[in-house]
Amino acid sequence: MANLDIELITPSLRPQYQAMLDRNPGQTEFHQAVHEVLISLEPLVGKKPEYTDLAILDRVIEPERQIMFRVPWADDAGNVHVNRGFRIEFNSALGPYKGGLRFHPSVNLSIIKFLGFEQIFKNALTGLPIGGGKGGSDFDPKGRSDAEIMRFCQSFMTELQRHIGPDTDVPAGDIGVGGREIGYLFGQYKRIRNRFDAGVLTGKGLTWGGSQVRTEATGYGLVFFAQEMLAAAGTSFEGRTCVVSGSGNVAIYAIEKLQQLGAKVLACSDSSGYVVDENGIDVALLKDVKEVRRGRIADYAAERSSARVVTDGSIWDVPCDVALPCATQNELHQDDARTLVKNGVILVAEGANMPTTPEAIDVLQGAGVLYAPGKASNAGGVATSALEMQQNSGRTSWTFDVAEKRLHEIMVDIHRQCLDTAAEYGKPGDYVAGANLAGFIKVADAMVAHGLI
Ligand code: NDP
Repeated sequence: MANLDIELITPSLRPQYQAMLDRNPGQTEFHQAVHEVLISLEPLVGKKPEYTDLAILDRVIEPERQIMFRVPWADDAGNVHVNRGFRIEFNSALGPYKGGLRFHPSVNLSIIKFLGFEQIFKNALTGLPIGGGKGGSDFDPKGRSDAEIMRFCQSFMTELQRHIGPDTDVPAGDIGVGGREIGYLFGQYKRIRNRFDAGVLTGKGLTWGGSQVRTEATGYGLVFFAQEMLAAAGTSFEGRTCVVSGSGNVAIYAIEKLQQLGAKVLACSDSSGYVVDENGIDVALLKDVKEVRRGRIADYAAERSSARVVTDGSIWDVPCDVALPCATQNELHQDDARTLVKNGVILVAEGANMPTTPEAIDVLQGAGVLYAPGKASNAGGVATSALEMQQNSGRTSWTFDVAEKRLHEIMVDIHRQCLDTAAEYGKPGDYVAGANLAGFIKVADAMVAHGLI
């Protein structure tokens, strides 16, 4: 449980934080995400009277619209299940709501709201015209047949379709939602609405409106961002050892790009444990186990003599120069941060959303470790989704090289914004302050321009 001490927030912003707590009891992940942003906003106090006059902060922490719905579906044996669906349309100051869908049994309103809140500022940092939203369901896809996944996606979209559209709200994937699920969701949307609205979902297949590099984008973008951090500190990935948690979409493509840049990835994980591979993770085998066979991380070790599985302890016990948490929220704790520091880590950049607890962030920053929050370092996924929307609008598609070059430029630009804004507001080198301030100011200025709505 994170330390969310209100005293850490500057006094003039505490009433908004307290009101948010009172209005959203028990939503601990949402509280945590708001707490971090409010701490960062201290340098703005007294500088932007228009923000106060128009209650920008009060409005930015209250979603524009919250949709919750029933999702009934039948399994292969004919048993009926009832799940809950969510879509939080958080902020549309900069463009249509944009953010992924998560299918995982842990999903609840608090988790979707924290993700949607972070998404607002992340999307602003990309410089592209997208607002913030997030959705999902407490459905557990693990062990389900393709036919069950399809029926669930169809039932979910039967309700969701009335709320979304290419200029309104554009969902994508997240945990438990990849290319297969986006295909079933898109098919049902197309059938009900009788429109080939390519721009209504991103992460589509390449033959029906998808973009090159979208699959790789979050992982590649994370590594491009970390590469900039290392370059700013006068070093590089060449010869570095890395540990990447998770073995899903973000982790796999982070590992692939790390290796292309000359680093060695020693370990990765899933929710059943982690593998250590002294020869470096074999990405082709990992893709086959996870993307094709939908297997467990132990299946990888079973086929690699240089790898072993560890089912107790923490992946962060493995000594490394660079640690990239790419699984889920609050997966890197204070003790893990201490272990990483003791073992000489120089950089931690988040591929997942909010994977590092506030106490762990304090340990890392206190020890001088380069640390990047996910809303900056994992923004490559949503940025490439916005590029997919651009291609859909123009009824065109770019080559892999063109899309990857755009992704790289965007990550370099986000890195620069973080450092420039942090320096401007007296927090040099603080990527958390830089990301929160730069993202917030863009959204707040647009909200001021739109008046009290
Ligand atoms: P995937 O479903 O492809 O993979 C998730 C990975 O994390 C799996 O290896 C999974 O293991 C592991 N994991 C998930 N939940 C837990 C848990 N509670 N405890 C331990 N391990 C867990 O998801 P993504 O790779 O797409 O997403 C990973 C993170 O990146 C999330 O935080 C997501 O919000 C964030 N993100 C994703 C983006 C994207 O484009 N996909 C964009 C920006 C951020 P197992 O299979 O055993 O559950």
